Amino acid sequence: MVKITAIEAIPTTIGYHHAIEASSGVLRAAEHVLIRVRTDEGVVGVGEAASRSFVYGESQESIVAAVKKWIEPALVGADPFAVNVHQQDLAWLAGNNTARGATDIALHDLRGKLLGIPSWRLLGGMKRDIPVTRILSMGSPEEVAVEARDARSQWGITSFKVKVGTGIDADVERVASVRRAVGDDAYIYVDANHGYTAESAIALMGELGAVGVNLVEEPSPAEDRIGRRRFAVHTAATIMADESAPDLNSTVREILDGEARAISVKTTRTGFTESTQVVAAAVALGARTLIGSQADGMIGAAAALAFASAFPSLAREPAELEYYSTLTDTLTVHPLVVRAGTLTPSDAPGIGVEIDELKLRRYRID
Ligand SMILES: [Mg+2]
Repeated sequence: MVKITAIEAIPTTIGYHHAIEASSGVLRAAEHVLIRVRTDEGVVGVGEAASRSFVYGESQESIVAAVKKWIEPALVGADPFAVNVHQQDLAWLAGNNTARGATDIALHDLRGKLLGIPSWRLLGGMKRDIPVTRILSMGSPEEVAVEARDARSQWGITSFKVKVGTGIDADVERVASVRRAVGDDAYIYVDANHGYTAESAIALMGELGAVGVNLVEEPSPAEDRIGRRRFAVHTAATIMADESAPDLNSTVREILDGEARAISVKTTRTGFTESTQVVAAAVALGARTLIGSQADGMIGAAAALAFASAFPSLAREPAELEYYSTLTDTLTVHPLVVRAGTLTPSDAPGIGVEIDELKLRRYRID
């Protein structure tokens, strides 16, 4: 039986074309950690963790430490196929969301490679073209309109997420500007990252309804339950839970008593194993599921793409899969390319990525 022999955690830093702003923090470079699960058969599974200090309290250093101190010792000598068992064995470990999620993805990648089967197939799906969402940067109304128009004309992208939280008038102007740029048939939603009070969020979504925007991610602090309830009663908008639903238990809680009617599924933080449970819970409770981005690079995107292709509730929604376009380079040999606004998962085994060793040497910081 094949056995896990080691887990590597390699910190890599790749620059963004521009600094990424959201109301919760600023990202200047993609500070990720490549996870590689090695086996005695020489087959290697890969995943990519992303440090998000302001969401999960992780850094590149803490991800490496979590892998070396807790995750690797728990998995060495074990069967890489036993993903449910490994998830249970590591359930005691608090936080470290993307360290655990990326390791789980690397295990699933490994399963696919050992069997010679792509992950989307192994997870029970079929090959599908997944429509992608462009996450627009937080610029002026003119800047975001130009970016959105270019994304549509150059790549055929027809779904857009606009970051909001800079003030109602400015946000409405920015979203309306995007709507004019991409047309009435495009799908637009917004993400406030808890940036508004419930009252302001109600006012914002009241105005955005007029430009055809009815889905909002984390409009107001999720801890303000009364505010969320008031929001749900007073607007026609749907709340999507993201940072308030980082795992299975919180997903159930946000749907049952947090008024969320959509869930942002981020495989980088819940791996494939727990993401499968998140999707099942959301579907059972009648909530929409959309693939979200952990500001993923190409490896994280390939994983999320394979996952999206495996579940009908995800595959029918636009997915945040092309955030890699904000990065100046990639660690993979075969870059993903958006065609007609969609990405298609690879037929290669596992999540279908091959690491470019020269680039890894160039971008690793250890
Ligand atoms: Mg979000």
